Amino acid sequence: MSRWDDEVDFVIVGTGAGGATAARVLSEAGFSLALVEEGRYLKPEDRPRELVDAMAMAVRGMATLATDSVVPMPLLQGKCVGGSTAINSGIVWRMPEDVRAEWASRWGLTGLVGEAMDDAYATIEDELGVGPTEAPIAGGNNLLMARAATQLGLPGKVIQRNARGCEGNGRCLQGCPVGARQSMEVSYVPRAIERGARLVTDCHVERVLLERGRAVGVRGLVRDASGSRRIEIGARRGVIVAASAIFSPLLLARSGVRHPLLGERFQAHPGAAIVGRFDEDVCMGFGASQGYEVPMRERGYKLEALSLPPDMLAARLPGAGRDWQTRVGELGRYAQWGGVVRMEALGRVRAGLFDGVSVRYEPTRADLAKVRDALLLVGRMMFAAGAKEIYPGIASMPEIVRSEAELVERMPIELARPDVHLVASHLFGTTCASADPSRGVVDEQLAVRGARDLYVMDASVFPTNLGVNPQHSIMGVVWAASKALAAREHARRAA
Ligand SMILES: Cc1cc2nc3c(=O)[nH]c(=O)nc-3n(C[C@H](O)[C@H](O)[C@H](O)COP(=O)(O)OP(=O)(O)OC[C@H]3O[C@@H](n4cnc5c(N)ncnc54)[C@H](O)[C@@H]3O)c2cc1C
Repeated sequence: MSRWDDEVDFVIVGTGAGGATAARVLSEAGFSLALVEEGRYLKPEDRPRELVDAMAMAVRGMATLATDSVVPMPLLQGKCVGGSTAINSGIVWRMPEDVRAEWASRWGLTGLVGEAMDDAYATIEDELGVGPTEAPIAGGNNLLMARAATQLGLPGKVIQRNARGCEGNGRCLQGCPVGARQSMEVSYVPRAIERGARLVTDCHVERVLLERGRAVGVRGLVRDASGSRRIEIGARRGVIVAASAIFSPLLLARSGVRHPLLGERFQAHPGAAIVGRFDEDVCMGFGASQGYEVPMRERGYKLEALSLPPDMLAARLPGAGRDWQTRVGELGRYAQWGGVVRMEALGRVRAGLFDGVSVRYEPTRADLAKVRDALLLVGRMMFAAGAKEIYPGIASMPEIVRSEAELVERMPIELARPDVHLVASHLFGTTCASADPSRGVVDEQLAVRGARDLYVMDASVFPTNLGVNPQHSIMGVVWAASKALAAREHARRAA
């Protein structure tokens, strides 16, 4: 009798951008797979309209996961089939050329970011229906930002998204109610299942089972309606860890993997946003959640329109009593645009008390200067587009600012960390890839050093952050690595 509850060629832990892409490639290369996911499998019709309900179902810790610092920074992570792609805006950016060049020259990752990545991009863009946000579903929040960019002569552009057939419901963050956004739970996960992959949900993988240094399977705890039970799934060819930049290093550490850089070099693109009130109807409730952007790469940040659901928007409005009620009565007249910053800060992830994790991360002075620069520009754009008042959300400034001159005058010369509410949803590092053993927990094939048949394929392998939205880069890197893995395994089978 087999010791395993199930046995496959590869076990993949996590079904987000990394895990689902590995499943897409390996299932089509003919390997049997088990995809093991801690969260639930939510279908488009299961996704609730209200943000709080949606977060309870799909976001880790109901969005309470945060850095362990004097001013905690929320870290948004999906916890459901599809991972963070199931709660993201479907924005698609190829990895910038300067990042590709740096990864090749400084980190020895040419095989991942060379031609293989171009091939991956072409296929992924075709399969996930990547295209520009179309005018009929752009919505007022995006169109207004486009007007502001034109007026100030900024390099704004319509966002490319993987949202085939988007109806402009403005509910990307809650989960697309019509399955238009091609997040992994409606695209690569079902595609792998069609090719025979098994999906195990509600299962927290406790450890990768290593025998004489070889990954032979995983042990997980399933918690579902029928109670809780332990399972073990055998992996004939290997285990792929794709549990995210926060949870992959913890799983490896629990499994006995040791490397000085495990959990180190945590990086992020934190962001902050400004809400503005206009005399015209904006109607954030209709349109692509994020359909317009202003890339300011040379200044280290990117500005994006980001629509909020009504409950969150109401909570973001200033004032109290009748004053607040009056503002809430005009809920259709607000816009929200934010800045996402490519920060230089390096943090660390360790086991901790809250959700089993502790994340140390502090933006540097230079990082905060970029946040200031970005928010100042967002505020100027709002006034250029006709805002009557804006709410900068900076603690040392007035809650309400009524002109560009007031904004410039009252903006602190230097932002202190408690001044600004930062949130991070693009997370990297912690099992860094490098051809140099002293600089990489995993090698250039994403294989874990010091173990056999154990791989990491998610954002945690990124040696640096990017300055652009990361999903497509994660998928491109993982695609290239899994193609190469499939080729090696086919050769091993033939030998
Ligand atoms: C709100 C939000 C908006 C975003 N918007 C965009 C965007 O528009 N465009 C873009 O490019 N990027 C966006 N991102 C970022 C992008 O979604 C992530 O960078 C990407 O999904 C990360 O991929 P990953 O595979 O590393 O991890 P994830 O996609 O987070 O997947 C990890 C999975 O592993 C599971 N897991 C963790 N631990 C275990 C365990 N022990 N056992 C079993 N399963 C486990 C998790 O539940 C999760 O499902 C956004 C992210 C968020 C949160």
